[in-house]
Amino acid sequence: MRIPCPLCGNRDLREFTYLGHETYLDRPAPGDAEALDSYLHLRDNPAGETGELWYHGLGCGAWLHVQRNTVTHEIGAVTLASEKVAP
Ligand SMILES: [Zn+2]
Repeated sequence: MRIPCPLCGNRDLREFTYLGHETYLDRPAPGDAEALDSYLHLRDNPAGETGELWYHGLGCGAWLHVQRNTVTHEIGAVTLASEKVAP
């Protein structure tokens, strides 16, 4: 699998580290223990199109938002995570 980094171009998967689903960016407010527990331990495992966070550790060091099909591993849009706009 290859990921098209917006800064480096099309690169091999081994250069990247997977962080998790895009909802990992939506941290609960401090002090809400139940929400924090759900955030840390209760995750969906979607089949099909999903948004994920990847780190280009052996490249530019950027965090990326990657649209990927978890069934076919087809990569869609890839943007810098810092540019991700809330839906
Ligand atoms: Zn890169």
